Amino acid sequence: MPSVPTATHEPPQTAEWQRSQQRMFVILVGLVVLASVAALALQRPDYDRLDVWALPAYSAMMLGLQLLLALRRIPLGSALRTAYLGGAVYVLLALYHQFEVMPATSVTLMESTYWFAVIYAAAFLTFPSRAATFVTGSVLLLAAVICAWHVVMTVPADTQLRVAGSAVQFVLTGAVLIVLNRTIGVQHHRLMASRAAAFTDVLTGLANRRAAEEQLAELAAQQSGFTLVLFDLDHFKAVNDTHGHATGDLVLRGVAASARARVPAGGLAARWGGEEFLLILPPQQREDVQAMLQALRLDLRAQRHGPVDGVTACFGVATARRGEHPDEVLARADTAMYTAKAQGRNDIRLSETVIRPGQLDPAN
Ligand code: GH3
Ligand code: MG
Ligand code: MG
Repeated sequence: MPSVPTATHEPPQTAEWQRSQQRMFVILVGLVVLASVAALALQRPDYDRLDVWALPAYSAMMLGLQLLLALRRIPLGSALRTAYLGGAVYVLLALYHQFEVMPATSVTLMESTYWFAVIYAAAFLTFPSRAATFVTGSVLLLAAVICAWHVVMTVPADTQLRVAGSAVQFVLTGAVLIVLNRTIGVQHHRLMASRAAAFTDVLTGLANRRAAEEQLAELAAQQSGFTLVLFDLDHFKAVNDTHGHATGDLVLRGVAASARARVPAGGLAARWGGEEFLLILPPQQREDVQAMLQALRLDLRAQRHGPVDGVTACFGVATARRGEHPDEVLARADTAMYTAKAQGRNDIRLSETVIRPGQLDPAN
């Protein structure tokens, strides 16, 4: 598959965010594996009772999640949440375990508690704010219970007060971190929501022109193959004039929903202008794109909105030649579409013979 955007149903800034999270996940897996190997190597030959099984298990889980992600068996969100919960369980086990191995003279908690700060921050990148507050609140509560139980039951009497002081600070800083991260997390989600809105067409919910232009610019930078379909509804002004603008809006929404549903995996449907739509697709064979557009034409004919009994459109199709800039491909799709308009409308025009990626011939 070419590296055409995969955000068929999502605005592309979400795809961009997803890609950055995917890269972050790869780095995270690498760090977990490296840190586990380093920790165990440093402990040799007296391995810690918890680390000797928990670190390899967590590393194996992270590698497994990365494999499932690479095979597209699970969504990124599930991988992140599973990795997060695995990490949270590990730091809680490590907290419990540290009291068992703590020297009798120790008056503070051990370094493994530093990781709780990461757990509190990561939750707000992994879960929606409310869920993240619940998860971090639960982790904090469990940590407080573990500390309290050990301070009362297992810490020697002469160090009890000072260990209790250390544990109280640990719990209080945890609470402050949760409040701070929640504040930042709420802002972050608002920012993501307004970014999504900036790239979404208000009427139809499709990607808007700005989003499509960004995808085209990305394709230009990647120099990978792609197919563009530009289509424009026929005599749409007459729909508005005859049945009213509100009915016209309903038709546009229906057409958008059909376009979105018909776009193949890895493609993007965008509203390019008033009653004009752009499909950005992985390179398509002539038969495939024709079959897809025939199905879309049937969908358009089936649009029923009050007195409107179906609409038609002109489709222009162009597949990128080797090294061809997306603007040139778009111009060819536009010309093909206007040829269909000029020749009587309700038609599909291919700008050229569609050829397999890898067989792209500049002479075509
Ligand atoms: P052609 O077959 O040549 O494309 O004719 P047409 O009537 O579709 O094209 P023309 O460019 O003359 O008219 C486009 C119409 O699309 C006019 C405009 O009112 C309508 N339109 C554009 N945006 C919207 C919108 O958001 N809602 C509604 N209801 N109509 C819109
Ligand atoms: Mg039109
Ligand atoms: Mg038009």
